Amino acid sequence: MNRAAAAVGGRINAVFFCPHTAEDQCDCRKPKPGMLQQIIDRFEIDPEDTPVVGDSLRDLQAGAALGFLARHRD
Ligand SMILES: [Zn+2]
Repeated sequence: MNRAAAAVGGRINAVFFCPHTAEDQCDCRKPKPGMLQQIIDRFEIDPEDTPVVGDSLRDLQAGAALGFLARHRD
């Protein structure tokens, strides 16, 4: 994955994942925003200046819960 990103000029700074199951009822399973909060804390980012990209609505719901930048492309 890192090599694929580098081949097109990208860089992956970290990989976050939820190690829990739905039964654990953790706060890092999307659409809950806990994992994005971990990213905010680790990189000290301002969510209002940071876009969220996801492959499902729940990814964007997690971002919206913390005020991440939402952009709509026509
Ligand atoms: Zn979790």
